[in-house]
Amino acid sequence: MTPDINAKRLLNSFLELCSIDAEPTRERAMADHLTALLIGLGFSVTEDDAGCRLGGTAGNLYATLAGSGSGETLLFSCHMDRVVPGCGVKPQLAGEYIVSDGSTVLGADDVAGLAAVLEGIVAVREQGLPHPPLELLFSVAEELSLLGIEQFDMSRLVSRCGFVLDAGGPVGEIVVMAPEQVRLSAVIRGRAAHAGIAPQEGVSAIQIAATAIAGMRLLRIDAETTANIGSIRADGPTNIVPDRCEINAEVRSTDPARLAVQVAAMQQALEEAARAAGGQVEISLRSNYRSYRLDPASAPVRRAGAAASRLGLTVRHRSTGGGSDANFLNERGIPTAVLCCGFEKVHTCQERIAVAELTRLAQWVAAILTGGDEASLSSR
Ligand SMILES: [Zn+2]
Repeated sequence: MTPDINAKRLLNSFLELCSIDAEPTRERAMADHLTALLIGLGFSVTEDDAGCRLGGTAGNLYATLAGSGSGETLLFSCHMDRVVPGCGVKPQLAGEYIVSDGSTVLGADDVAGLAAVLEGIVAVREQGLPHPPLELLFSVAEELSLLGIEQFDMSRLVSRCGFVLDAGGPVGEIVVMAPEQVRLSAVIRGRAAHAGIAPQEGVSAIQIAATAIAGMRLLRIDAETTANIGSIRADGPTNIVPDRCEINAEVRSTDPARLAVQVAAMQQALEEAARAAGGQVEISLRSNYRSYRLDPASAPVRRAGAAASRLGLTVRHRSTGGGSDANFLNERGIPTAVLCCGFEKVHTCQERIAVAELTRLAQWVAAILTGGDEASLSSR
């Protein structure tokens, strides 16, 4: 059977969580609030030292609860932080939606996930329904390119079936594919000279950057690959030919080969432009997270799909262009699907979520927790 959730309690919990300040690396109040709630539910909760390592106020929360039935341990994960401006949020109802007052984000990304996981668990337990052992991982600094979960000791996790609640799109949709992201940073060096008296003796680092960028393919490269220049920086007076310019860019692809081709093309454009002008370029690359592709027969995809079907939701498997904590969990060998949470216009002050979608998300969690035979891990 599918447990009933308490929609009113869920809404109140969502509004309360949104109004707690939780910008990246400033998650202390949120971590304290969630810790108290989880302890009240019988979880044992620990906080790691990610806060110290990142110069933040709180670490990742890891919580476990013994099961009341059979089945293998399930992991649910959400992030506690939200993008700036995410302090002083005043969540409010506007028709069928929950919105902010327009001066901040709402923080439904990822409070919707947090509230749905909590309500799903509370509902299942108060109805006395059996559920498997649970692990929860609530991360910090997810919005800073997944810095928080990178600090978490993955060897503590015993689950082999994980769910990250952290994607837009209708509740019922399951993200089974996400890209790897590589950051490309370049420092271009030219030669300074007086711009009025002897500009011909100078080499403009800005001109090198401009030539290189003009020669790059950027933005949507193909169905699986994207590339973007995020910043270009060179500060100087107009009477000096600039001898230094910095570029920060990223490339993403779900296909490692295409990712490598695009990164190489951007490197080559920079190197050629520098060489042609008589300058130099230093390029550093950093892979922020790895791509993943889940088998439709993998435990989390089957279990989430079966639960959504039981609720009458439209189940669809899809890819995303964004990274999430699931990239790390999958990389460390814990098959983890991302559940779509119904939030919209995230990372803007127009962020919103329909009350009905929030309700369906909590129902989905409860249905996954009490998943029947058709979705059980042992039936594989
Ligand atoms: Zn998110």
